[in-house]
Amino acid sequence: MAKPKVAFYWCGACGGCEEAVVDLAEDILKVVEAVDIALWPVALDFKLKDAQAWKPGEIAVSFINGAVRLSEHEEWVKLLREKSGLVVAFGSCSHLGGIPGLVNLSTAEDVFRNKYETSVTVDNPDKVRPQTHSNVDGYDLELPAVWNSVKRLDEVIDVDYYLPGCAPPPNLIMDAVLAILKGELPPKGSVLAPSKSLCETCPLNETKPEKITIGEFKRVATSQPDPEECYLAQGFVCMGPATRGGCGERCIRANMPCRGCFGPPPEALDQGTKLLSAIASAGSAQTEEDAAAAAAALVDPAGTLYRFSLPSSILKRGLPRSEG
Ligand code: SF4
Ligand code: SF4
Repeated sequence: MAKPKVAFYWCGACGGCEEAVVDLAEDILKVVEAVDIALWPVALDFKLKDAQAWKPGEIAVSFINGAVRLSEHEEWVKLLREKSGLVVAFGSCSHLGGIPGLVNLSTAEDVFRNKYETSVTVDNPDKVRPQTHSNVDGYDLELPAVWNSVKRLDEVIDVDYYLPGCAPPPNLIMDAVLAILKGELPPKGSVLAPSKSLCETCPLNETKPEKITIGEFKRVATSQPDPEECYLAQGFVCMGPATRGGCGERCIRANMPCRGCFGPPPEALDQGTKLLSAIASAGSAQTEEDAAAAAAALVDPAGTLYRFSLPSSILKRGLPRSEG
């Protein structure tokens, strides 16, 4: 019997999600035994025309990582949606917008101006920028268009399931592959990870006081956390209360507060405001001035509270989402 075909594709991403597939180690042999990998641009040489030739639904499941920023991403993910029975948003960028989504604090014009004109390392007196169409020595060249906003995958196509994490851990990837192969999947739209918050499974949870009081915010860049005590109780911003569990508490066990890559737990609409409400009630300031001083000590609040989820935030970015 023919094996089900599986596609892996990447949009705007760092390559960590591709590494996560390789991190399956010997389990990758079980995957290869059970499925035919029909597309994996990072590892195998397939072209757009190969995917265009597939019949609709020919691919059992497409795992798509990375955020959607370019016209090329949009073309590929729409094609994969048409050709796939299931689409899984793989990793934080695809699931929530991820770290690339922080660029939504700027416009595409801001980014191009900085990179090609005003950055101190740039020498470009003619202000030359990449163009979507150009002709060089009689040859027509095309580059993908850059959209003004980074989008989550489900802002562009219908998504069946979400595998969270930066990157998703191998055990969750393997569980998802096995569930798909056995047809034992939860309801469409589910995040394929536990429903508990990270705090509930954290090994430091028993040191987390019932009521946390934060006198001042600390940063791991300038202070060393005590690995035996809840980081939030020590004043480090730990996203644990506002983050879904299931990662194996990877950062906590490496003496780093959680940065929030699994996204919000099921009951939270918005990851940043959920954490903000937890730390706002934990402040010890008695006066407005003290509260303002404590808030000012939270360096880069947008990048801290929405490091992985700005395109999913109910606050969005306060800038116009023009031209796609
Ligand atoms: S706030 Fe962070 S360190 Fe504290 S219990 Fe939650 S996940 Fe663990
Ligand atoms: S501890 Fe937080 S940031 Fe680290 S892997 Fe887990 S969810 Fe992601």
